[in-house]
Amino acid sequence: MESLNTSAQINAPQAAILLFGATGDLARRKLYPALYQLYRQKKLHPSFFVFGMARRPMDDETYRALVAESLENPDEQFLRHCYYQSLDVERLEDYERLQRRLLDLEASAGTAGNRLFYLSIAPDHFEPLAHHLKESGLVETAGFRRLVIEKPFGYDLPSAEKLNRALCQVFQESEIFRIDHYLGKTMVQNIEVIRFANSIFEPIWNNRYIAGIQVTASESIGVEERAGYYDRFGALRDMVQNHLLQMVAMVAMEPPSRLETEAIRDEKVKVLNALRVLSGAEIDHALVRGQYVRGIVDGEIRRAYREEDGVDPRSTTETYVAAKIYVDNFRFAHVPFFVRTGKRLRQKITEIVVQFKDVPWNLYVKKSGRLEPNRLIIRIQPDEGIHLWLNTKQGGDRLRIAPVDMEVSRFTGIGFNSPEAYELLLYDALIGDSTNFTRWDEVAASWAWIDPIAKRFKEKGEDGLKFYPAGSMGPELADLLLSKEGLHWWEGTQA
Ligand code: NAP
Repeated sequence: MESLNTSAQINAPQAAILLFGATGDLARRKLYPALYQLYRQKKLHPSFFVFGMARRPMDDETYRALVAESLENPDEQFLRHCYYQSLDVERLEDYERLQRRLLDLEASAGTAGNRLFYLSIAPDHFEPLAHHLKESGLVETAGFRRLVIEKPFGYDLPSAEKLNRALCQVFQESEIFRIDHYLGKTMVQNIEVIRFANSIFEPIWNNRYIAGIQVTASESIGVEERAGYYDRFGALRDMVQNHLLQMVAMVAMEPPSRLETEAIRDEKVKVLNALRVLSGAEIDHALVRGQYVRGIVDGEIRRAYREEDGVDPRSTTETYVAAKIYVDNFRFAHVPFFVRTGKRLRQKITEIVVQFKDVPWNLYVKKSGRLEPNRLIIRIQPDEGIHLWLNTKQGGDRLRIAPVDMEVSRFTGIGFNSPEAYELLLYDALIGDSTNFTRWDEVAASWAWIDPIAKRFKEKGEDGLKFYPAGSMGPELADLLLSKEGLHWWEGTQA
């Protein structure tokens, strides 16, 4: 199945990939494997090199060994494209040294001065880094210069604005690629294709036929190594502000007039601007905030969030959020969107569930009782696929109606043999396609919606924080959000 992005046919230009944070977790787990896959698929131009930077001193050979460690069956040819220099992002003289070495490498590799700066480094460094890139002259180059920047993009709207102003002094908006790695997931890119390339959904994709929409992004892992960051940000900022609101935007957006980057982003930002802003007690009614306590996940006892290394034992940071959201426009007026995300939940799953309204008159009520509603499920991970639940007559019994799952997934042969999100996104950044990155106005609109909620959470502290056992699906109160609307969270087949 094709994705909205037709970039697969475009050849990536020659480029120097300048990676800040080259020894970090993200670089090792995601970026090197993604670059290697692109290399193996010949999606990288033969004239490319990866230039890693971090503070610790290392020569090229040691760096190549570090890169090789993160790859399956590493190829010596690929590793020869990798170079390293020790650099402290706060020290201007290190950038000047970098500039000198880069000019030599660019001349020998023939990368035409195209520079992709990838910031895989703690967010506190983003602003000084951009400033030093300018001061050292690194952004003055004969080819393109692009900035790929990891999340989080700010802590709230004012800090995001400040960061954006700093970046815009160095790069144009069209040169800034803000990563939301959910947008690199094949099934997230598929939302638009499912909606806009199939005539059966679009006519009923509105408040006349849809009863409610659920977006779930649950994780079974805890905070792992990232407690310092997480305890400051919490689930609302870490997941809802970016990934969940982006998925809501893609489900709710109008069809763009053209399949062009800005036309698509224009439609998404309209949705984000139409989110009903909540305040005060409205927030208490529409959101559930939870934190995990001890419990069992996958048969193992897991400690409470407050017992995790690096977490304040009195922390009131939420590790779970559920929210009822309204998109106040013609298409979706009065349709509740329920989003939820959390750590240490029963299972890792990301999916979108579109629940359609009941048939106007149930002919089968006497024999079968209540009919299950039709549901379209877009499973983003794991087992990515599309499921459509329909009511059908069961064999044998004359009028027994039961829901069946019409499943389209890789197991049924149609197959989405998806590349990793970072593979798609790195490739898009190299070819200059920013469709699957967030534009500044999308980020600003998301923070504008989040800020009053984050403020309320902070004011309330422990008051209203619901504790849930690790291994559950979150606080029970989250069920009430839906049952008030006559709905319930989709937990797989109800048959
Ligand atoms: P990390 O493991 O802590 O790595 C940080 C990197 O930055 C290391 O290479 C470190 O190497 C380098 N560094 C630290 N201070 C530096 C300085 N002053 N000058 C130059 N280099 C410096 O972080 P990470 O988990 O990879 O995360 C990187 C970015 O990706 C962050 O913005 C994070 O929010 C984002 N992100 C990460 C994940 C993930 O799964 N890890 C997911 C989503 C987003 P030295 O100590 O040798 O300098």
